[in-house]
Amino acid sequence: MVVRTDQATDPQLLEALLTVRRGTAFWHRKVEELGDTELDRPSLLDGWSRRHLIAHVGYNARAISRLVLWANTGVEHPMYSSPEEREREIELGATMPARALRHLNHHAAISLDVEWRDTPEDRWTYEVRTAQGRTVPLSETVWMRTREVWLHAVDLDNGARVSDLPEDVLERLLGDIAGMWAKRGTDPGFAIGVDGREDLGVLGAGAKAAPAAVVRGSLAAVVAWASGRGGSALAQGKDVTAPRWL
Ligand code: ZN
Repeated sequence: MVVRTDQATDPQLLEALLTVRRGTAFWHRKVEELGDTELDRPSLLDGWSRRHLIAHVGYNARAISRLVLWANTGVEHPMYSSPEEREREIELGATMPARALRHLNHHAAISLDVEWRDTPEDRWTYEVRTAQGRTVPLSETVWMRTREVWLHAVDLDNGARVSDLPEDVLERLLGDIAGMWAKRGTDPGFAIGVDGREDLGVLGAGAKAAPAAVVRGSLAAVVAWASGRGGSALAQGKDVTAPRWL
């Protein structure tokens, strides 16, 4: 096999590509551990079976591929034609035979990786628009996919934990989540601290004023809580349910 390498040369971007590839491998490993009938079981996401989740991650790779195409051609290719279309695709995808579902999951991820690999250095700063309407440089798509593959591996509910995620992914997730709450005005006013990571500071709207509650734990526990994946016991005696993030 001929090994081809990334056209990108920026060290930070190459590092990000490495992290997303590790996450993708982790995601696939967890999917492959599931037998066909186990795909019918619920995922950790409300109302979604594992089938829905796998269809979503597969179609997400295709949607991100469209952004890569957009940056490479200069011709607009949105991630999804509409939110309804995105939902419909997932519902339909979830009904596919197991083999077809696995095929989608696998091949969509491989194509995306090849497209990233073949994207010239100067295209990575090209601005594209995400499904949420954010304008971002193409390089941001690597992080968008990183979040998906690592967190959704946990959502498969067959053994992956938030603590399996690399530390740098956890750090960035926490920043993203706190940023999203601030932007949406849903920050619960908690002071959020990470044990042993005082360098991360105290996060959230409760950091300065008198906090509504103090949430503290290991980085993985805090991210699990903040992303809605458990950890509500981090603040004793108070309801510290995290606001919705995505
Ligand atoms: Zn997702």
